[in-house]
Amino acid sequence: MNEDTIFGKIIRGEAPADIVYQDEHCLAFRDLYPAAPTHILVIPKKPIPRLCDADEQDAALLGHLMLAANKVAEQEGLGDRFRLVVNNGAEAGQTVFHLHLHVIGGRSLSWPPG
Ligand code: 5GP
Repeated sequence: MNEDTIFGKIIRGEAPADIVYQDEHCLAFRDLYPAAPTHILVIPKKPIPRLCDADEQDAALLGHLMLAANKVAEQEGLGDRFRLVVNNGAEAGQTVFHLHLHVIGGRSLSWPPG
C-alpha cells in the first residue's frame, strides 16, 4: 500500500490545506469536498494507512486523535452536535489511505449512514 498519499504531502507542506489545528502528533484541516457545513479531517502525522493497520503501540495516538477531534469540534462551535467517522478500507468508502477521522457537523445528521 502506497503510504505517500495526498495527506502525506499536506503533512510535509508540499500540498496546500486549510489547517485548523495541529500539534506534535496530528493535523486537522478542512475537507476539500465537504459533506456538511463543517467537515474537518483529523490525521496522525504517522502514516498509518487504515484503522485496521493500527496496533497496540498506536493506542495513545488513537486516543489523541479523538481528543483532537473534540478540540476541533469545540473550536468550530459544534458543541455536542457532531459526528466522527472512520472509513476503513475501500469497500467501506475509504479513498485516501492515510488514517483520518472525519469531524462532521453544522447540520442535522441522520442514522444509519448510507
Ligand atoms: P475517505 O473517503 O478516505 O474516508 O475520506 C477522504 C476525504 O478526503 C474525502 O472526504 C475527500 O473529500 C477528502 N480529500 C481528498 N483529497 C483531498 C485534498 O487534496 N485535500 C483535502 N483537504 N481533502 C481531500
